[in-house]
Amino acid sequence: MVSPVKRAERRASLSTLAAMPELPEVEMVRRGLEPVLTGRRFERVEIADPRLVRPYEPDAVAAELEGERVASVERRGKYLIVRFETDRVLLIHLRMTGSLRHSPSGLEDDPHRRALVRLDDGVEVAYRDVRRFGTWLLLEPGELDPYLATRVGDEPLDVLFTAARLGERLAKRRAPVKAALLDQRTLAGMGNIYVDEALWRARIHPLRPAESIDRDELRRLHRAVRTTLEHGIARQGSTLRDYALPDGGSGSMQDEFKVYGREGEPCDRCGTPIVKTRVAGRGTWFCPECQAATSSSRAPSRSRRQSSV
Ligand SMILES: [Zn+2]
Repeated sequence: MVSPVKRAERRASLSTLAAMPELPEVEMVRRGLEPVLTGRRFERVEIADPRLVRPYEPDAVAAELEGERVASVERRGKYLIVRFETDRVLLIHLRMTGSLRHSPSGLEDDPHRRALVRLDDGVEVAYRDVRRFGTWLLLEPGELDPYLATRVGDEPLDVLFTAARLGERLAKRRAPVKAALLDQRTLAGMGNIYVDEALWRARIHPLRPAESIDRDELRRLHRAVRTTLEHGIARQGSTLRDYALPDGGSGSMQDEFKVYGREGEPCDRCGTPIVKTRVAGRGTWFCPECQAATSSSRAPSRSRRQSSV
């Protein structure tokens, strides 16, 4: 159990890290918006930031969205999909700092608000983005699947995603396994936090070439990816700085990180201090003991040999 003081210290140090919403965070946004948006009509739309919809004109996109009625709110990887009854789709990517808020009684003024949607029941949904990397893209019927097909791979929580399937995605790739997992075409929705956490859980070094991951490790990694993401969803995501739930609440996964942002702290499994390095240009945390650089299925025989001497 982490003490409240330790937890406060950890939260303070984590708030200095720039973390993007990943699958669990986007899924929580989806779950928060689903009951608010489904069945409702976009009565009035204001898009204040041209970057959000470029190369299209903000006013033109807003005019197209007005009158559309929401059929469902879906998610694919880190994309949020607002599907309308016309089968048009508003595809939202939160990127670094995007978030959506709703309030039945109107929202307070916010200098980082980039768009505002007023629904036919009077509820306002605001899109807020400090760094302004987020995107809104209006797609016509039939355009969504081809758009996503070239950008996102398997959905890791889908029943069709198996260890064998993960093996196919990592085969013949010399890139570090961490880089391969960050590539959205390998798995949809994994980012810096959940990749580091999953690799710790699977006891795999982040710099191991993807193609060198053996069958036992693949099984462990497959299980670790799913467990880590499910855990993140159960804790309503990780709130380090910008991420918030649509009702303004925050997640608590950050209190349970095993390695992410924990340089110098003891590993929960073996007590060895967590190390920070860089992989694929991203800050990367791991346990140098449990996540040794060699294939772990060879490691036990070596330690047995040593202990018999
Ligand atoms: Zn360890």
